[in-house]
Amino acid sequence: MADQYDVVIIGAGPGGYNAAIRAGQLGLKAVIVEKRSSKKLGGTCLNVGCIPSKALLHASELYEAAGKDFDKLGIGVGKLTLDLAQMLKQKDDAVEGLTKGVEFLMKKNKVDVVLGAGEIVAPGRVRVGERELQTKHIIIATGSDVTPLPGVDIDEERIVSSTGALSFASVPKHLVVIGGGVIGLELGSVWRRLGAEVTVVEFLDRILPGMDGEVSKQFQRILKKQGVNFKLSSKVTGAETLKTKVKLSVEPAAGGETEAIDCDAVLVCIGRRPHTEGLGLEKVGVKMDKRGIIETDRFKTSVDGIWAIGDCIHGPMLAHKAEDDGVACIELIAGKAGHVNYDAVPGVVYTYPEIASVGKTEEELKEAGVNYKVGKFPFAANSRAKTNHETDGFVKILADAETDRVLGCHIIGREAGELIAEAVLAIEFGGASEDIARTSHAHPTRSEAVRQAAMGVEGWTMQA
Ligand code: FAD
Ligand code: NAD
Repeated sequence: MADQYDVVIIGAGPGGYNAAIRAGQLGLKAVIVEKRSSKKLGGTCLNVGCIPSKALLHASELYEAAGKDFDKLGIGVGKLTLDLAQMLKQKDDAVEGLTKGVEFLMKKNKVDVVLGAGEIVAPGRVRVGERELQTKHIIIATGSDVTPLPGVDIDEERIVSSTGALSFASVPKHLVVIGGGVIGLELGSVWRRLGAEVTVVEFLDRILPGMDGEVSKQFQRILKKQGVNFKLSSKVTGAETLKTKVKLSVEPAAGGETEAIDCDAVLVCIGRRPHTEGLGLEKVGVKMDKRGIIETDRFKTSVDGIWAIGDCIHGPMLAHKAEDDGVACIELIAGKAGHVNYDAVPGVVYTYPEIASVGKTEEELKEAGVNYKVGKFPFAANSRAKTNHETDGFVKILADAETDRVLGCHIIGREAGELIAEAVLAIEFGGASEDIARTSHAHPTRSEAVRQAAMGVEGWTMQA
């Protein structure tokens, strides 16, 4: 007889495992299915995404600071050395610890785990190898995969995706990053700090498309100062792997003369696409758009009893968004009022300095014809940032000109990813810039720059 469940969740990433935990909490009999060959739970995020990349960003930032900044503070570290194998090991240890943590959470919340590839054979029926799971509800939480670039075949050794770029056995002399988005700038930063020459080839005329234009411009200047080379409005049309190097053909995006670039390694990161192959979606009639994104209405797919969340549906491909989708989806299944406010999902780029953003950009407000005010404050005028010699960047707050409601916040600066939380909360609570401006902020902290930017919306900044 087949196993009987209330909900079968396919995919154990942040979307799937948070849905599973919430299901357990609400007393639903749940099972999570995961096909990763390492048998580890946690999905892209814990295994080959957020966690290992942040482990390397942290370690490489300290390495660079030790070599370049410590002496200014009167700290001598002698001759700087890099033990790359150890740096990679501490990254793997972080992954191991957190993926074990997810296993523990499944046990604690009485969620069954089935290892193997799940296929939907019919609504209410999921096959995993020889086994069949019968259920009232199926949640597709299968995440996303690397978008391939024709003519540049990934071998995960010299031409790598983000996964290969988390484990280079030695520091490449020259790394070409194709795509000036989040992955390219984060992992490009890691290998530049460890000694690689890094060239970013970006199709558009700017990096980080989708981010506020002023942020993207200033950030590119900062990265250039750090030594990153940029080739904007350019496309890679082919790659030839030779004995000791890779030869890339690069053209202007609008077409024109081809240029050859020689390098030791290439990172392809031109975006990610939904991971839905082998799930049987076409057979059961689950509708997807042209890009393979599963179409949903409050997580319901076009087939009754089949739901989808996270990277494989519309919205930003972010772990915390997948997590919120998972919780809300289970709550809806359980008859509760599950809800996600997609206007208040922050995005963070974990470079140095960090970039953090929530809500609308200036470009979006202009395009929508919204009448808005801007408050801006530079870290060069923030006492904590000055004291710590970390003055790159600014805080920018966008508020509705009539109601003062906070519509967006964009930050470049050390720990911007932590600072953004109060702007997220302001947007979630429908707060005004004056609410932030009149809230006490500890001194001396970088968070005072957020308050000063909010004061700037009404023109009463005190410290700049
Ligand atoms: P995933 O995490 O992709 O999990 C889906 C799981 O489903 C996978 O484990 C897959 O093996 C499994 N699966 C697929 N098909 C089947 C099947 N048929 N049967 C069984 N199992 C299946 N986001 C952030 O918010 N912050 C970051 O700092 C960040 N850094 C990132 C760095 C990198 C290098 C990358 C690549 C991504 C990063 N992301 C980050 C994005 C984040 O990883 C994703 O948004 C998030 O993992 C999406 O969660 P998910 O649950 O939808 O899917
Ligand atoms: P991305 O969408 O952030 O950036 C891709 C970049 O490649 C864009 O700038 C795009 O214009 C460019 N591009 C597209 N085609 C190109 C081509 N042929 N030649 C040159 N450039 C080209 O995608 P990504 O960096 O691959 O990241 C994928 C996803 O993973 C993102 O959606 C992001 O949300 C998620 N992620 C998040 C974090 C984080 O939250 N810190 C970190 C890493 C990844």
